[in-house]
Amino acid sequence: MAVADWEILTRQIRDNLDIVQVIGRYVPLRRAGSGFKGLCPFHQEKTPSFTVHPARQTFKCFGCGAGGDIFTFIQTREKVDFVEARRMLAEQAGISLENEQRSAARGPGKSDLVAVNEWAQNVFRRQYIGPAGEAARAYVAGRGISPATAEDFGIGLTLDRFDGLLEEARKARIDVQLLAAAGLVKPRDLGGHYDTFRHRLMFPIRDLNGRIVGFGGRTLGEDPAKYLNTPATVLFDKSSNLFGVDRAKHAAAKTGRIIVVEGYTDCIMAHQAGFAETVATLGTAMTEAHAGLLRRYTDRVILVFDSDEAGQRAADRAISVTLSSGLDVMLARVPEGKDPCDYLLAAGGEAFEAVLKGALGALEFKWRQVAREYEGGATGPARRRAIEAFLEQLAGWAGNGVIDPIQKGLLVNQLSKVLALPAEDLHRQLGRLTRRASRPWAATQAGSRPGPAGQAAAGGSAPPNARQEALRQTVEALLNEPTLYPAVADWFDPAGIGDPQVAAMATRLVAALQSGEPFRLDEFIGRFESEAYGRLITDLQYHGERRGRYAEVVEGARQCIEACNRLAKASAMIEDLHHAQPSDGNTGDDAADRNEDELLRTLASSVRQGHFCPTRIRRKFIQET
Ligand SMILES: [Zn+2]
Repeated sequence: MAVADWEILTRQIRDNLDIVQVIGRYVPLRRAGSGFKGLCPFHQEKTPSFTVHPARQTFKCFGCGAGGDIFTFIQTREKVDFVEARRMLAEQAGISLENEQRSAARGPGKSDLVAVNEWAQNVFRRQYIGPAGEAARAYVAGRGISPATAEDFGIGLTLDRFDGLLEEARKARIDVQLLAAAGLVKPRDLGGHYDTFRHRLMFPIRDLNGRIVGFGGRTLGEDPAKYLNTPATVLFDKSSNLFGVDRAKHAAAKTGRIIVVEGYTDCIMAHQAGFAETVATLGTAMTEAHAGLLRRYTDRVILVFDSDEAGQRAADRAISVTLSSGLDVMLARVPEGKDPCDYLLAAGGEAFEAVLKGALGALEFKWRQVAREYEGGATGPARRRAIEAFLEQLAGWAGNGVIDPIQKGLLVNQLSKVLALPAEDLHRQLGRLTRRASRPWAATQAGSRPGPAGQAAAGGSAPPNARQEALRQTVEALLNEPTLYPAVADWFDPAGIGDPQVAAMATRLVAALQSGEPFRLDEFIGRFESEAYGRLITDLQYHGERRGRYAEVVEGARQCIEACNRLAKASAMIEDLHHAQPSDGNTGDDAADRNEDELLRTLASSVRQGHFCPTRIRRKFIQET
């Protein structure tokens, strides 16, 4: 059966079923406006925050964030994969899949990929234990990982050859196309294939159910890519999988928390030291999909990082994940510039527990960051300014729809503890700032300031987010109003989106909109066959819908991105000025002076026109002039 037939049948299933009826079998729904409401089947609640939209054929829970189409619902509710959910729904729809099953030539399925991964794992493991594995074992021992732990986690080895696995596959008569579908080999330009992982220590990555969905490999040679993951396959997506999650989920039930580290060895060492509730991200920052996965098992997540720089990144991600998922994300820093693995070895489990105990809530962590910029923000005017700056950032998020009004109340309560200020005052201040921040993105009235993203930049606090916010809002608008695509085609580039999951989704969105086929949200969600994407897409769609005014948002985003480009140019100019040789004679008309004058003039005009002049740059600019 060709892929097209598979899709035609999927569409038939969709067209024959109504989401209100499908979900109604599980959840009593009552009409509310144009949709339906009920108590969410995915989290405990007393007042309904679970909604179903018959027009869009989607569902969304505003309590826990679950969302998607009928397939996602069945996947989540019945804890089955897409293929099984589709089978169950076909039955409900009275559509026979018999022919399809008889000629199952849809390429390798997920279970085939799991099987080939398990086979590869045996090969890697054999190589690690065998004579070729001596150096690898020495490296593992050098990191303090015991042979028992190495065996427990199934640490393996790939040989320093381009055809090590291919050779094994030939002997075992395994189809090379299957290896390729699992990401274990890659095609050569001139035909044939080569091993994806060469001369690497191999870490099998398992899903919640313990099935091997991919691998992480750490180089044992000089490869500049220190770590390499299985490329995206139908089984594996590094922005939604977590290393160690199959073990951590059990431990989390006891400890009531999950520890998130960045490296495989950090995670393994933590388990060895008794912190079995530890998982590792696969070379990405924590995503909403990760949060969705973890929230099934805990409300409390501690992100462990090892440098200030990593802390900065982690804090912003953590706040946005905290706010959008309701997870309580804390941040803990390992001292002495050590990674968690080395720290555990040197200082031991008790010291590590103390590090975890010292974790700060994401908001508090961010507040301390902001306060530091304002001479500690401890007293008097510095404190007032720091609070103002901090609230402005939060208001930016609130105005952008990152925070639901429901969550805002929660946020204010937390803030009131962090800042030791009365909640009512904060509510008022935040409300005022949010209203300002959510004023039209698009400059509809002459002279009006740009929207929230722009203000973040003008405040000088978070300039890199302006572009990201503009790109995100564009995606949100397009999901609601796909006919706007021609208005963004020229400048909207999904590759510029920082969040890998949103970027991947937006890339497919653009492809779908370019195809010119009529766009249906539920169908689009269905293509991902993933709960995490169901949640992500419905989240973005919902935020977009709440903001409304799609054409204005898109136009505002365009202006914002142009302004960001101008700002980047201006920053580059300032750098140039900074590095320019000071002209000592001050003759006024030599080439360097003219060049400098020219730069200053351009800069001055761009500062005058642009709304985007972070204070740092303004200060520099004033110094220079
Ligand atoms: Zn829910």
